Amino acid sequence: MFKRILIANRGEIALRIIRCCREMDIESVIVYSQADDKSLPVIMATHAVCIGPAKATKSYLNQEAIIETAIKMKCDAIHPGYGFLSENAEFARKCEDNGIVFIGPSSDIIKNMGDKQSARKLMIENDVPVVPGSKNILTSIEEAKDLAKEIGYPVLLKASAGGGGKGMRKAYSKEELEHAYNTAKAEAKAAFGNDDMYMEKLIINPHHIEFQILADKCGNTIYLGERDCSIQKNNQKLLEEAPSNILDEGLRAKMGEVAVRAAKAAKYFSAGTIEFVVDEAKNFYFIEMNTRIQVEHPVTEEITGIDLIREQLRIAAGMKLSISQEDIVIQKHAIECRINALTPGTINFLHFPCGYGVRVESHVYTGYEVSPYYDSMIGKIIVSGNTRLEAIRRLRRALEELIIEGIDSNFEFMHLLTYHPVFLKGNYDTGFWEKHHETIENWDREGK
Ligand code: ADP
Ligand code: ADP
Ligand code: MG
Repeated sequence: MFKRILIANRGEIALRIIRCCREMDIESVIVYSQADDKSLPVIMATHAVCIGPAKATKSYLNQEAIIETAIKMKCDAIHPGYGFLSENAEFARKCEDNGIVFIGPSSDIIKNMGDKQSARKLMIENDVPVVPGSKNILTSIEEAKDLAKEIGYPVLLKASAGGGGKGMRKAYSKEELEHAYNTAKAEAKAAFGNDDMYMEKLIINPHHIEFQILADKCGNTIYLGERDCSIQKNNQKLLEEAPSNILDEGLRAKMGEVAVRAAKAAKYFSAGTIEFVVDEAKNFYFIEMNTRIQVEHPVTEEITGIDLIREQLRIAAGMKLSISQEDIVIQKHAIECRINALTPGTINFLHFPCGYGVRVESHVYTGYEVSPYYDSMIGKIIVSGNTRLEAIRRLRRALEELIIEGIDSNFEFMHLLTYHPVFLKGNYDTGFWEKHHETIENWDREGK
């Protein structure tokens, strides 16, 4: 096992990895930006090294500074967390070239799966159902128009390098297509430096169901159930839960097996996620693979009892999976709620919930300054229970205990959301936020 690893990330995920290292007797080295010098990961890691100013390109995305620090600090491996360099094939390659283990899959796998259109191709070749759409990158607006006519409107234009909901545009008609194509392309160019586009049929308000995969370097691949991430705002997840209320045992097993087939087709190792959209008739389609740990991984940890970060470290160190598919027994229901800051500023007072079945993953504390430079997520509340209703009741009481003063956040909205009848029924889809957020906001106003 590794003696010392570098964590190339910040916030709650950096803390999550540091805690895992402590439990495994591994030293941690956190690299940080000047904006994060008072952050909890910096205090809690074994060693902390400042690598640059606040701007991510000068610090958390500064590949040279990170590799240099890893060498200087004699780190065996680098954990990239999520976001930042976690899906950057070039960075993974630099780690490999410098004899540092990248805690994730190989640079080749990241490259193949990170390019969403080529991942689509690989899935088609391996009988994994994909959304009807492009066979190749779109080369012109004319080609896009022809393809849209063939598959039928509405369509979704997607950036092949896309992520985090960026570089995606819907088009409901020929008239809308050109604008959608141009704006998605421009957004992709600015965000990813790559404006390759492809097209999928727009599935109207699908369910977003993803499967957690674990695979070792010997080819053992298992799935750890699904997560329903259909509560999204602008294609970004707000609340995730497992098991999903819309899957029965048969469909769960079928999708799980397809997810394992998809991971095997990619020769995948490490923790990874196969994302699907599921339509009204319960047809499911692969949309992408995330070749990293996800924000919502604790949901799966709570229902399976498996520490996914620990498994990532073991796999990266060359160890075989310690569990097989038969060992995965889902006995709990878990829900994660993301707490996002709506404004930057200083948290004057903070009180986190705790107690039976409540887990909090966060790097903030009373006096912490939420900086405008990074992602707005300041923490996650994860609850588990024996039934879905028990988990929902627990989430409500956890959010009632939560106090955040000094900045605005979304937690009051999330608390009210847990009372919405569509959420309670559990068959909500990705249209939930658009359809119901105003009603929920009005409850809030009336309540005040
Ligand atoms: P998850 O399924 O883990 O929630 P997200 O797509 O929401 O994945 O992304 C996780 C984090 O990574 C978010 O903070 C998001 O802003 C960021 N992120 C995702 N993709 C990219 C990307 N290509 N470039 C930069 N940041 C990204
Ligand atoms: P990202 O890399 O930004 O996460 P995804 O391809 O995973 O992009 O899509 C993000 C979200 O957009 C999905 O969770 C889903 O809600 C929606 N989406 C993606 N593809 C489709 C589609 N073909 N039809 C309808 N919704 C889709
Ligand atoms: Mg996605």
